[in-house]
Amino acid sequence: MYPFDYRRATTVAEAVSQLRADDSAKLLAGGQSLLAAMKQRLAMHSALIDIGRLPELKGIRREGDRLVVGAGEKHADVAASALVAETIPALATLAGLIGDPLVRHMGSLGGALANNDPSADYPSATLALDAQIITSERSITADDFFRGMFETALGASEIITAVSFAIPQRAAYIKFPNPASRYAMAGAFVARHATGVRVAITGAGSCVFRARDFEAALARDFRPEAIAGIALDDSHMIADMHGSAAYRAHLAGVVARRAVAACMG
Ligand SMILES: Cc1cc2nc3c(=O)[nH]c(=O)nc-3n(C[C@H](O)[C@H](O)[C@H](O)COP(=O)(O)OP(=O)(O)OC[C@H]3O[C@@H](n4cnc5c(N)ncnc54)[C@H](O)[C@@H]3O)c2cc1C
Repeated sequence: MYPFDYRRATTVAEAVSQLRADDSAKLLAGGQSLLAAMKQRLAMHSALIDIGRLPELKGIRREGDRLVVGAGEKHADVAASALVAETIPALATLAGLIGDPLVRHMGSLGGALANNDPSADYPSATLALDAQIITSERSITADDFFRGMFETALGASEIITAVSFAIPQRAAYIKFPNPASRYAMAGAFVARHATGVRVAITGAGSCVFRARDFEAALARDFRPEAIAGIALDDSHMIADMHGSAAYRAHLAGVVARRAVAACMG
């Protein structure tokens, strides 16, 4: 690891001003992605600004037909939240499937979204639940937030403070995990809203994406059989030592059908 300064911010505003003052400084939340990259010398930063204990980033509350989760909430806290279980049980299930207990007790919602790993779980829920990503500067729709592999719409000194999820009529998340890392080889979050169906696929492509053909078919007929004959385009799927692009496209269809079946109870 290259040397760096460590600073603990006491407010979001203080963290923003520290980022603005130093181009090479980086936010530190749970450290589950950032510290691993720094230990391997894949990343070098002059300073880490620790936002891991900011009260402003905590809290889970219902606001009308939306569930608002603080960016600093740990995966384990989302998994154990009675309010999440009551309003969007699929989100609690998803959080409980991330990594292992250490990762779930350290890793945060904001860190997972800012990192935008192509195999991470939360981006799929964020997209399928038509979320608004609330930052220190603005509110960004999930459709505009995820830009590509490890790329988001966030500016250099912008901090995610909370995520506002639309509460669906029904939703389910199914993933086929890599047995070593628990990251998704393919994961599907299916949500049925009063306004339509949203299906987000993670793990299979270079970035989380909406499966629009699945959505259209499920809007007409919300059963697994409705998407059984639809093949996903494999031209933008990941191909690596764990599986080919064709395998991942097939797997994404399988987990999507299982998620629809899980929605039906
Ligand atoms: C062994 C292992 C297994 C894992 N398995 C899974 C898995 O199965 N599924 C899965 O989804 N993930 C998995 N992860 C990743 C885990 O979910 C991380 O917690 C997450 O990706 C990053 O969250 P963090 O809070 O640790 O962020 P950090 O590592 O601290 O930060 C990650 C990035 O986000 C930025 N950042 C952090 N917070 C904010 C914020 N509020 N606003 C703006 N930028 C911010 C940081 O500057 C950094 O660039 C795994 C990690 C490990 C080590």
